[in-house]
Amino acid sequence: MSKRSDIHRIANELRKRFPPAFKVKVRIKPMKAYWEWCNIFGTDEAWEHFLLVIDANAEFRWQRDALIHGWAHMLAWSHLHDANPDWHGHDEAWGVWYAKVYQFVMYDREAAKLKDGP
Ligand SMILES: [Zn+2]
Repeated sequence: MSKRSDIHRIANELRKRFPPAFKVKVRIKPMKAYWEWCNIFGTDEAWEHFLLVIDANAEFRWQRDALIHGWAHMLAWSHLHDANPDWHGHDEAWGVWYAKVYQFVMYDREAAKLKDGP
């Protein structure tokens, strides 16, 4: 049983199907608070990668949801957001990407084989 690697396997599928503007690093590590899970993306200093952090202590289904949620953020990401103080992270663009990624992860045949693990 390796739920941790299942998250990485799904992430690899997403990299192929929905590549964001930057390469994606996925880290699975313990988080201190539930709300941290939406603190899911940022780039490193060089703006070469998105960093998606997923709580190692969460159940697999929540980790999978964090992956979908965060992937949608990365796909909807725009540098223009940074210049708009009223920008809300869960805007229409994010919602559309969330739906597409959710559909892929939860219902695509290949991803479906991974979603519940071995
Ligand atoms: Zn969010």
